[in-house]
Amino acid sequence: MYEHTALLDQIKRTYNFAAQIPLHSPCFSGREKNYLNECIDSTFVSSTGPFVYQFEAAMAQYTGARFAVALVNGTQALFLALVLAGVEAGSLVLTQALTFVATANAVSYTGARPAFIDIDPDTLGMSPAALMNFLEQRTRRKEGGQIVELITGRRISAVVPMHTFGHACRIESIAKICKEHGLPLVEDAAESLGSLSGTRHTGTFGLMGVISFNGNKIITTGGGGAIITDDPELAARARHLSTTAKTDHPFEFVHDRVGYNFRMPNLNAALGLAQFERLGELVQAHRQGAEKYAQFFDTFSDGPTLIREREGSRSNYWLNAVRFRDSASKERFLHAAVKAGIFARSVWRPMHRLQMYAKDIHDSLIHTDEAYATIANLPSSVQLPAVN
Ligand SMILES: *Cc1c(COP(=O)(O)O)cnc(C)c1O
Repeated sequence: MYEHTALLDQIKRTYNFAAQIPLHSPCFSGREKNYLNECIDSTFVSSTGPFVYQFEAAMAQYTGARFAVALVNGTQALFLALVLAGVEAGSLVLTQALTFVATANAVSYTGARPAFIDIDPDTLGMSPAALMNFLEQRTRRKEGGQIVELITGRRISAVVPMHTFGHACRIESIAKICKEHGLPLVEDAAESLGSLSGTRHTGTFGLMGVISFNGNKIITTGGGGAIITDDPELAARARHLSTTAKTDHPFEFVHDRVGYNFRMPNLNAALGLAQFERLGELVQAHRQGAEKYAQFFDTFSDGPTLIREREGSRSNYWLNAVRFRDSASKERFLHAAVKAGIFARSVWRPMHRLQMYAKDIHDSLIHTDEAYATIANLPSSVQLPAVN
């Protein structure tokens, strides 16, 4: 019979009985220090420099996107992507309630409001059926093609699904719905660097994808983010807007609109380039870690179940998530884990249950609420042997 003590022991064995076991810690066993020293020696630490361009090239090559624009963090990358997608104040952005708060915050910064669509219970990402249902039941197409929400009359300006914990949502179906409705698709791929749907990298199915390189993500630049896109004009506008909209001039400061200071500093890109060199190995190690948890859970018929990658997708298994039998079991596990020095945590409280988003429009959210009641994240750090 399954007992929480068995799971706690399994985690302690995996992490060699450390006194404190973090949820996710970064792995710096590559050329991080070499590149950082090189960057410092060059004196180009803050402005865009050679490491930024190499980092962007590595990202474009790895994801298969034509362009990657490195930015200060994932939140602002998402905000900028929404601005570039034409999201304006007063409009509505369809996203999921089960996400990290940054997704909804980025929408808020534009002056638009989020509207929350339910998730699929297996992927924990936006449900295409729920999206379709929302568009059919709660919106109408105005003359001229705009899609507006029935009660508020607000224009739907974008759709932002998220690939939760690195597991690809049903992004092909979502992309198809967006295309049919003429809605810009911006993927929050903050957590899914290294994850594919079919043979394509997450973040490459719509107009733009957004990646985060925060310290808790699969690779880190300290703080950082990126927009990936196939559209040369969007990439150019992302570069321009994120560097104070400064026009090219040998000595004059001329700015052609209100821009932002969102570009990734060279120092962060130096760290990121070294991280990128080991991304393939890190994904491999994360997948092995997940397999180990899966094998553990397979030994019980009445225990929690690991959230697995959807068939036809390949997850980076950045952060392992388990579904407990009921909310009481999840609660008991989290209390026991905290007491044992193990940083397990609950899945995020869904956005419609946070006070600043409680009044926003939302779908039925049955699967979102079920996920919140029963799902927790388990320690998921991996370490690689050092190179040179
Ligand atoms: C981490 C994360 C972000 C924001 O990235 P930062 O780099 O931390 O600003 C956005 N969305 C999701 C789903 C995330 O997990």
